[in-house]
Amino acid sequence: MDKGKVYLVGAGPGDPKLITIRGLEALKRSDVVVFDRLAGPHLLQYARPDAERVYVGKLPDRHTMKQEEINRLLVDLALQGKTVARLKGGDPTVFGRVGEEAELLRRNGILYEIIPGITSAIAVPAYAGIPVTHRDFASSFSVITGHESPDKLDHSIYWDKVTNATGTLVFLMGVAKIGYISAQLIKHGRAPETPVALVQWGTRAEQRTVVGTLGDIEAKVKAANLQPPAVIVVGEVVRQREALAWVESKPLFGRRVLVTRARAQASELAAKIDELGGEPYEFPVIETRLPSGKEAEDAIASALARAEEYDWVMLTSVNGVDYFFYWLDRFGIDIRRFHRAKFAAVGPKTAEALAQRGVRADLLPESFRAEGLLDSLADQVSEQQTALLPRGDLARKHLPKELAAKGVRTVEIDVYETALSVPSDIWLPEMLNNGEIHTVTFTSSSTVVNLLEALRRLGVADPGKALERCQIACIGPVTARTAEEHGLRVSIVPDRYTIDGLVQALIDATGREIER
Ligand code: SAH
Repeated sequence: MDKGKVYLVGAGPGDPKLITIRGLEALKRSDVVVFDRLAGPHLLQYARPDAERVYVGKLPDRHTMKQEEINRLLVDLALQGKTVARLKGGDPTVFGRVGEEAELLRRNGILYEIIPGITSAIAVPAYAGIPVTHRDFASSFSVITGHESPDKLDHSIYWDKVTNATGTLVFLMGVAKIGYISAQLIKHGRAPETPVALVQWGTRAEQRTVVGTLGDIEAKVKAANLQPPAVIVVGEVVRQREALAWVESKPLFGRRVLVTRARAQASELAAKIDELGGEPYEFPVIETRLPSGKEAEDAIASALARAEEYDWVMLTSVNGVDYFFYWLDRFGIDIRRFHRAKFAAVGPKTAEALAQRGVRADLLPESFRAEGLLDSLADQVSEQQTALLPRGDLARKHLPKELAAKGVRTVEIDVYETALSVPSDIWLPEMLNNGEIHTVTFTSSSTVVNLLEALRRLGVADPGKALERCQIACIGPVTARTAEEHGLRVSIVPDRYTIDGLVQALIDATGREIER
């Protein structure tokens, strides 16, 4: 068997977008992803769905897997012929023990690549508005480990040299030793007034910064109960923060928002949350697919074959549009055969999807639910007309019923199905438990039902309870009703039942309620 290959990938400091393109490519290509907590669960969504995911993380008080075991694991996987991505927080060569991993791989004749990443030593201060160098204040910077025991620190760090270096000092793994570190620096000659900042969980929703001086930082860190991981920055550059802090002023800063809609559609919502400084956490609980079975296909074929007969084609979702055109293509039906029909689209996104196919909606209901379509339709449809309704199997029955009551003949076709999807995510239950998901968004009733079911399948005994601490945001009243029927307390429903409306409502709500 051919030997595999191991990519030692720098994953960046936490914000998943701070991985390099090369790192992302390696991740996407791998059969196995080996990761730990600092290398961000977010990135796992880019792994192949069938890729094996191996957690080798450590916690400060316990080692889940020893470094030697990780090294061995990488070798074994590669010897089985697998392509492996070993994700490492920040840059793999900065206190990442990549040397040991690479050395053993080399000795076993296994190919490897070291893919650099953005180190927290630079990126985390940057996200707090602190540049590690500055033309006027710091012409160099040193990155120093603070993790070892106090006696070892004495031996491995030349405090006199470190202290009197010209530039900024950046300590990693030093939170627990902050008192010792500042005492050493003062002892060897740095002024007690020297500014110091600790930035916890930089680039993530939990990012928090404590600023002080060498003289008072230990007390301030204690008072703020600042915990690892954090980067410590010592030097004049810390003062820049006052002018340069930027992430904190974004409207959704500090909020991690669960996005439950189907992966294909989630990106728009996730991108908006991200742009506004929030941290989207994608957990798609829905997938759409072609309806199964010959019967369903025949029904679609015969309905589309009568294209010329329809007075209306009514589309109620972007998916409906996408799958409608899929079937036209599949059966070789030209859109112009619907020449008699007017097209109605529920919601601006549906209309936009239609417009992208070159079809301008004749009717775009004001409201964003099927009921709105009815109101607008009331004066437009007449008895004896025939309407085609391509939709998903879960679409509500409201519209066809009302149309039938008006004497309109409706032909419904299920152009796609929705199904429950349970992402393989080992983190979400724990994050919910820790209060690390601040807001949950629901964009349809099925996202509500499916999230609860997905959590149950991930071993959460009482999903309703697990969501209790989260702010629940629903795209519209129908979804909100479903959520409430399932025992959830809904606090956000926008006036406009669209993704933009939902995002705006999230922003409006941040002033109202942040419980952290
Ligand atoms: N190779 C990593 C560093 C590993 S050592 C890198 O280049 O970033 C682990 C230490 O990195 C932590 O104890 C902490 O000091 C720092 N660190 C990593 N990610 C961090 C983050 N998001 N916020 C604050 N500190 C972080």
